[in-house]
Amino acid sequence: MSKANVSRSVRGVLAAILSLSLLASAAVPSIGAVDPARYLNDIRTLAAPDMEGRGAGTKGLDKASRYIEKRYKGLGLQPAGTNGYLQPFTVTTGAKLRSDNSLTQAINAKKEGLLVNQDFEPMSFSSSGSFSGRVVFVGYGASADEFQYDDYAGVDVKDKIVVVLRYEPEIFGEKSGKQGLTQHSQLITKAINARNHGAEAVVLVSGKLADGEEDTLMRFGGVSGPQDVGILLLQVKNRVAEGWFKSAGKSLTDVQQQINHLGKPDSFMFPDALQLSVKIDIEQTHAKVDNVLAYLPGKTDEYIILGAHYDHLGRGDSNSLAPSQIGQIHPGADDNASGTAGVLELARLFAPMKGQLQRGILFMSFSGEELGLLGSAEWVKNPTRPLDKCVAMLNMDMIGRIKDNKVYIGGVGTGSTFKSILEEAQKKTEFKIEYSAGGYSASDHTSFVSKKIPVLFFFSGLHSDYHKPSDTWDKINAPSAAQLLDLVGNVAVQLASAPAPPTFITVVEDKPMGGISGGGGYGPYFGSIPDFGEVKDGVRFSDVRPGSPAAKAGLKAGDILVQFGEQPIHNLYDFTDALRRSKVGEVVEVKVLRDGKPMTVGVKLEQRK
Ligand SMILES: [Zn+2]
Repeated sequence: MSKANVSRSVRGVLAAILSLSLLASAAVPSIGAVDPARYLNDIRTLAAPDMEGRGAGTKGLDKASRYIEKRYKGLGLQPAGTNGYLQPFTVTTGAKLRSDNSLTQAINAKKEGLLVNQDFEPMSFSSSGSFSGRVVFVGYGASADEFQYDDYAGVDVKDKIVVVLRYEPEIFGEKSGKQGLTQHSQLITKAINARNHGAEAVVLVSGKLADGEEDTLMRFGGVSGPQDVGILLLQVKNRVAEGWFKSAGKSLTDVQQQINHLGKPDSFMFPDALQLSVKIDIEQTHAKVDNVLAYLPGKTDEYIILGAHYDHLGRGDSNSLAPSQIGQIHPGADDNASGTAGVLELARLFAPMKGQLQRGILFMSFSGEELGLLGSAEWVKNPTRPLDKCVAMLNMDMIGRIKDNKVYIGGVGTGSTFKSILEEAQKKTEFKIEYSAGGYSASDHTSFVSKKIPVLFFFSGLHSDYHKPSDTWDKINAPSAAQLLDLVGNVAVQLASAPAPPTFITVVEDKPMGGISGGGGYGPYFGSIPDFGEVKDGVRFSDVRPGSPAAKAGLKAGDILVQFGEQPIHNLYDFTDALRRSKVGEVVEVKVLRDGKPMTVGVKLEQRK
């Protein structure tokens, strides 16, 4: 190359670089600023009483989906659902009692039918069916190896009905040294334990009441559980059970006192003069709900996702953190009207950029999140755009309560370009950002990271109004949320314009972010991410954490866990219970179905980080 040539060529190269950067800077349009007033107005609308807390199966939730759909349509965005802007799917919303529930006691052959809702009440996650037979009292129904205490020791409950006290022996509190009750007090744990000991039905009884406490029956549906725990489960009033104890020459109060006084079980079989016949008839209730989806086309068929769930707890179901206020509307202003309004505001700002960005943007408003990430799980199972063209998913869940400029951004390690893009974007803000690398936590981005799509999760932290009727619009910090949305918009523009998309990176383990863990959290570490969607029998893994005990044992996404050591696994509650009863370092034989074929592996459980 000649000097003359050289100098010409040097000038040429410089010009090329300049035009490229001009091109590059030219190629990255900037979006307008988010309008805090408009943003807050959307939150007010979505958190208003007529939205009924956007609970699954409520008219309020349908109203919210129509509100979002109308906005996407009004912006001229393309419908991206399976039915226009909507992607309908069905969720289980709960259960209701049907007509054929009965409990008949026979004492010395004298039969008496007891009254539902007065003398007894089935639990909403009971099996439906009937059984008659002998009765065994098994104290608190606890098998607690860690406390060397087992109410089932020395009694045979196979093919019998067990009577179980609520709560737990007082000695557990002393031995655990912890405040509050242990998992042995949970109804689901008692039911699973009775089932695993071969009992056919569980009759719960409150026992000793606190001062001023009435002998009431738990509200049907007031306690969360699987759809069907696999055993007949009901509660009777103390006075009903006292009659049974009397027929055995005993008193419930005395026996309970004795157990607590001595700190050891006092289980016994009732004389066969006492027979019970149980019939439970429950129907699962279902509702059709909608993901609402809209698309802004880009120059190529690659796209990024901007998403947020718009459903909430309605009048407070079993996920309410204000159980005494169940029945009241849980407006969910921060959870997650704040994220939903964020997606609407960014859609407004991006809409004019149709066909201008390198990549398109899919705006997603998920339903079913509060029931187990069901809307995002539905979409990744039935995507309405090619999954492999999705280069990044940005999820916003609770961005409305920024305090002291503190913001949490998760998933940063899952995309190769995320860190540099975020650091660049952060420069334009006052935010103190706590980054975390992992992409698994309790919101919809987890459904995408399981499909190896890089994810970012924007969150302003937990607060005392979380999942309560007090999560109201007037507590939203709209100016700061608007600034965060500017940052999210900026990051989205970069990702939609960058020459190269981020590549997916598998993140091994991560620390909890802003008070929420990466799912699970009981007993030793196993490492599966459960699919909360309905599985006929067992627990399907939507993913397995890289480097985890489950991964080391060769388990993978799609496997359906059906046996854990001795315990049959019918649902997530069985799995949690079995894991809790296991020890760090223990090698557990687990059986999974892979493509329908059974497979058994040994998993060495580890300390949870
Ligand atoms: Zn949420």
